[in-house]
Amino acid sequence: MSKDYQPSSKPYRGRIAPTPSGWLHLGHAATFRMAWERARQAKGTIIYRTEDLDPARYRDEYDSGAIEDLHWWGLDWDEGPDCGGPFEPYQQSRKLEVFKAALDKLKSMGLVYPSAHSRKEIEAANPAKSPVNGDIIFPPDLRLRDPSDAIQDEVNWRFRVPDGRWIDFNDNRLGPKSFKAGTDFGDFIVWKKDDWPAYELGVVVDDHDMQITEVVRGEDLLMSTAKQLLLYEALGWQPPQWYHCPLVIDPETGTRMSKTHKSMGLRALREAGHAPGLQLEAYFETQED
Ligand code: GLU
Repeated sequence: MSKDYQPSSKPYRGRIAPTPSGWLHLGHAATFRMAWERARQAKGTIIYRTEDLDPARYRDEYDSGAIEDLHWWGLDWDEGPDCGGPFEPYQQSRKLEVFKAALDKLKSMGLVYPSAHSRKEIEAANPAKSPVNGDIIFPPDLRLRDPSDAIQDEVNWRFRVPDGRWIDFNDNRLGPKSFKAGTDFGDFIVWKKDDWPAYELGVVVDDHDMQITEVVRGEDLLMSTAKQLLLYEALGWQPPQWYHCPLVIDPETGTRMSKTHKSMGLRALREAGHAPGLQLEAYFETQED
């Protein structure tokens, strides 16, 4: 199996897509570097996109901090904020109408339904758990059969998954992958009750809108790819290629790096006087496959 991007008729377009809800750590840096390298190897374009669709967790300093830290780390990009070119910043929050149009399309096809159930109510329904990650599968009994029955304000909108169907795809690093709808994952939220798009819809609509040809991201999002493929199919769009990077393990704790591992933050490393960017190879020893 080749780990290279499979050339398609379209020129390569990749993206670096941080969520400004915390400082970036070495796990992000490894993934974003891979996204950058693959775009550069393919002589393509790499864009920068701020995934700022969660106002409750958004902070300005994380947003500008991500750009500063990634520049320090040695990455650059061809479109997006602060890249020295005449480019408008790509901020998802500036194009809510594009996401809304996709939601409306899903609504008109009857593929999503409003769901007012709280987490407590879902748990009380004794839901199945995903064998992949232990997440709760939204109980099919709680599905709304007739959307006109529901209060449609301040509700989550869920995508109804085709129970029992295997969703297959090829990952450019890991090879063939498949997940079973209804068993590995259930009806997932595409629009949140705070009236903002949920991640799964936001990322699909934006990757399509920005004509991304290969999505490079962490392995923790592998199953999200199966959900997202259902959205591509529903919306009638051609999906990009996929490359899921290994997760970086914190050498001290042996666990996956997260925003709580402050010492591994790019900002902390920089302030501690580490050499920037691509010279921090030692941290990646644990992630070789
Ligand atoms: N915004 C996500 C992150 O910061 C990446 C999502 C994606 O690449 O699809 O981890």
